[in-house]
Amino acid sequence: MKPSSVIELSESALRSNLRFLRRVIGPEPKFCSVVKGDAYGHRIDVYVPLAEKCGVRRFAVFSAEEAADVLAASAGSSSIMIMGTIANDDLGWAIENDVAFFVFDLSRLDAALRASKRIGKPARVHLEVETGLYRTGLEEQAFRVALRRAAAHPENVVVEGICTHFSGAESSANYFRIGEQQRAFEHHTGLLAEFGFDGIDRHVACSAAVFNYPDSTLDLVRVGIAQYGYWPSEETRLAFARGGARRPRGPSLTRVMRWKSRVMNLKSAPMGAFIGYGLAYQAMRRMRLASVPVGYAHGIPRAQSNVGHVLIRGCPCRIVGTVNMNMMTVDVTDVPGVKPGDEVVLLGHQGDREIEVGAFGERTHNLTYEVLVRLSSDIPREVIA
Ligand SMILES: *Cc1c(COP(=O)(O)O)cnc(C)c1O
Repeated sequence: MKPSSVIELSESALRSNLRFLRRVIGPEPKFCSVVKGDAYGHRIDVYVPLAEKCGVRRFAVFSAEEAADVLAASAGSSSIMIMGTIANDDLGWAIENDVAFFVFDLSRLDAALRASKRIGKPARVHLEVETGLYRTGLEEQAFRVALRRAAAHPENVVVEGICTHFSGAESSANYFRIGEQQRAFEHHTGLLAEFGFDGIDRHVACSAAVFNYPDSTLDLVRVGIAQYGYWPSEETRLAFARGGARRPRGPSLTRVMRWKSRVMNLKSAPMGAFIGYGLAYQAMRRMRLASVPVGYAHGIPRAQSNVGHVLIRGCPCRIVGTVNMNMMTVDVTDVPGVKPGDEVVLLGHQGDREIEVGAFGERTHNLTYEVLVRLSSDIPREVIA
């Protein structure tokens, strides 16, 4: 059946982003692609094979379920790391499948030791240390205990990494706090040698840190939003455009995703008519209206009612009235020749115009992430060149 809308994922855009990010981080750090939130709405089953085709060999997810999705989607040779939740009962599964996981409390480490002994294979762990985010992370005392236990059982625990997460690297308002975190992290990495560890991957940087804290890239970077072609914040984009410390030449970030649908129906409404439910929109002139079979069930925020735009025939057309569950109405009065079946772009470019995720409201940090992950997984994803 023909889908009512399609999300295209551009291979050339992804390749361009990966090349750009490599130029920004330099040749040394390992690149780990963060694909939590179903690959930020791109869908793990489509995005992971595409990323592997573009050379990505490391993925990070939030949960064990997502790790299983990556495992199923991957061609086989990639490493997978769980940054968040996994039930102790599933640690055996992770060990058997070579899935690494963050350890941020001692009970998980002990459960991993037990599971490893049962299976006869070591657990791959990344010790997450507390540096000031106060979300998850081992405090120094517990970190020392963890190192001692891991050092005592090298056949059961391989410490692959030591890591932490910043408290908002996309905003300079957090500059001081992040500096404290960097110092705390250095203090913790300094303890590794004391317990006989070396050659362990130190990793702290998310997308924003890659741009705003170039010295934080260390041995590995965990990049989410930027690989998909979005700046972590407007502030980060502007700071970079003004010549951030590592500004390379050439294209920067390009959106991987393009969401398109088709005009479902056309009609005219007289001046004074109310368009759609209730009194949300009143026609101030005779209007030509196009309905589009995409609504909040698919991930268009309802807050786009009366304010959002789509592209038809290369022209921005305003959403009029409320966004409904499965459809919305747009104003095509000034776009000549619109016909049923015409392409409608909800996100991405059409001709030389573009609808940005940021246009779905203010350009705020959370909004880009939130809009992306709320795109319905029922919408087919199609890889294009
Ligand atoms: C989500 C996440 C990242 C990636 O963040 P982006 O801003 O999307 O690059 C990195 N590390 C951790 C621990 C995360 O949860």
